[in-house]
Amino acid sequence: MRELVDILRAERHLDSGGYKALLACDDKGVVAHLHEQAREVGDEVFGKGIFVRGLVELANVCRNDCLYCGIRKSNTAVERYLLTTHQVLQCCQQGYDLGFRTFVLQSGELPRDKAPWLVDLVGEIRQRWNDCAITLSLGEWPREVYAALKQAGADRYLLRHESHNAEHYSRLHPAEMSLKNRLQCLVWLKELGYQVGTGIMVGSPWQSLDNIVEDIEFIEQFEPEMIGLGPFVPQHETPLGHYPTGSAHLTCRLYSIFRLMFPHALIPSTTALNTIDPQGRTMGIMAGANVVMPNLSPSDVRARYALYDGKASTNAEAAEGIAQLETQLATIGYHIDWGRGDHGGKC
Ligand code: SAM
Repeated sequence: MRELVDILRAERHLDSGGYKALLACDDKGVVAHLHEQAREVGDEVFGKGIFVRGLVELANVCRNDCLYCGIRKSNTAVERYLLTTHQVLQCCQQGYDLGFRTFVLQSGELPRDKAPWLVDLVGEIRQRWNDCAITLSLGEWPREVYAALKQAGADRYLLRHESHNAEHYSRLHPAEMSLKNRLQCLVWLKELGYQVGTGIMVGSPWQSLDNIVEDIEFIEQFEPEMIGLGPFVPQHETPLGHYPTGSAHLTCRLYSIFRLMFPHALIPSTTALNTIDPQGRTMGIMAGANVVMPNLSPSDVRARYALYDGKASTNAEAAEGIAQLETQLATIGYHIDWGRGDHGGKC
């Protein structure tokens, strides 16, 4: 099994049986070797710097009804909010003053008539902070909206495909959502010149190892610049709220597999991972992740962006806890890299 890791490092590819064997492997020595190799490859490309992105959660209003998500439209227990332009700009200013040079604007899927507001907002941020990267995570929109957002100054777009298996995808989403449209959006984003991120929740209900292998193989051929993976975490007001939490170890194993496949990829050690394990962030970095996304949203709305139960948004997970993050990274020999952290070239 150790040879599989070495082949993956050398060739950046395994066949589907190889990926499945690595995912299923219960030999601690092999898993440790996988993480070590991934970390070594990450260090060769990025050194000891970990990129930070300031996350602004624009709104918990959502037109979609994903069965796993706490801000799905059917969840009547959610007190909805939509930040004003002024509030978003204040968050960015606070982030800029702290040193952030990438802003990630994330949101539930806003009504279609909010597209002009989003475009103006991106334009305003671009004009004020021209040295910063703007990443969007706003879900599915028509091609022309993605084009207008790009034209206004957005650089990157995160859109997890969630599952590349159509049957699995359909069990996680309402009938009006389709894998086909999700994948079409990803193609448009790439065609429009965005740096694109995609990914999955690890351990979502009904997900099998074969499904994860399908996801790996999709990501392998799609060649995204960013790969976003976090464990599924139940949210008690959703239809999937009684399913078990995904595995932190499997999530980290996937960070390592993707680091070996894509040495230059931007791979966040996600909030969901840090929510289910207090050591999650550092575990993720030691497995090959190289990005963290502290929260810049106004503190009074953070609890309302409750995608899942217990979502971390304080201490080192918050922009104002940056000193704590520095200390935490130092304990594993890493430091914050305040650069824009653009994707470093060929995957
Ligand atoms: N609406 C946009 C979209 O769909 O891409 C962005 C916001 S959406 C809430 C961001 C991500 O949160 C989703 O892609 C999903 O993977 C993740 N998410 C939602 N509910 C979750 C849960 N219960 N556990 C873990 N991650 C979750």
